[in-house]
Amino acid sequence: MGNGIVENLKFVWECILQVIYSDDEKCILCKSEIFDKECICLECKKRMKLCKDSFDIEFNKIKISAYSVSYYSGIMMELILKLKYKSNFKAGETIANYMISLIEENNIKFDFITYIPMNKVALKKRGYNQSKYLAQIISDALKIPIIHCLEKTQETKDQIGLNYSERWKNMCQCFKFVSNRVNIKNKKILIVDDVITTGATAFYCAYELIKNGSGKIIILTGAKSKV
Ligand SMILES: [Zn+2]
Repeated sequence: MGNGIVENLKFVWECILQVIYSDDEKCILCKSEIFDKECICLECKKRMKLCKDSFDIEFNKIKISAYSVSYYSGIMMELILKLKYKSNFKAGETIANYMISLIEENNIKFDFITYIPMNKVALKKRGYNQSKYLAQIISDALKIPIIHCLEKTQETKDQIGLNYSERWKNMCQCFKFVSNRVNIKNKKILIVDDVITTGATAFYCAYELIKNGSGKIIILTGAKSKV
C-alpha cells in the first residue's frame, strides 16, 4: 500500500513540525497564556456552546442515534478548520477530549470504534484523515479497539449547492464495508466524524455496517451543522 506509507510519513512529519514549532503555553485559538496542560484557554472554553441531547438520523425507516459536541460555529468551527486544513493536531486533541467527555457523561457504551473514511485521492492530498485521527485518540483513551472496516469507493461531488435530496443521492453507494477479520456481528459500533451536516454520509456508513450484521450504531461528531 504505497499510499498508506506516504500518508503515514506525512503524518509523522507534521507531528515533528508541531514538536519543533510548538508554543506550548499559548492557547491555540487566541494565543493567550495558559497555565495548565490544556490546548485552549478558559476564556475560549467558556465560549464553547455544548449540545446536550442526542438526535436521530432517519432515512428509509432506519433510525440511527447521533451525538455532536457542539454546533458548527464559534470555537468548535475554529478547532475543526485548524485540524482539517492546518494540520493542527492539538486542535484535534481538544476536539477528541470533548468527544470523550460526551461519551462518559452520556454513558455511551460500544464494542468498537470506526470513522468516516476518505477516498484515496483526498487522503493523499491532505495526508491524514481527520476523523480517523479523532477516533484513534478516543480509542486510546477509552481502551476500545478501533476497526478499519469502511472504504470510500467513489469520489463524491461537492455537496455545496445541492439540496437535501440531492445530497442524499450524492452519498448513496459511496461507501463499502471491508471485512478485516474482525467480527462485527451484533457488535455496537461508534462511528466518528468531524462534522455532520445532512447526516447522509454518516447514515450510509452506518448502513454498510448494519447490512453486514452489526448491532446498534451510534454516530459521534465534533460538530453539527444545519443545512
Ligand atoms: Zn483562548
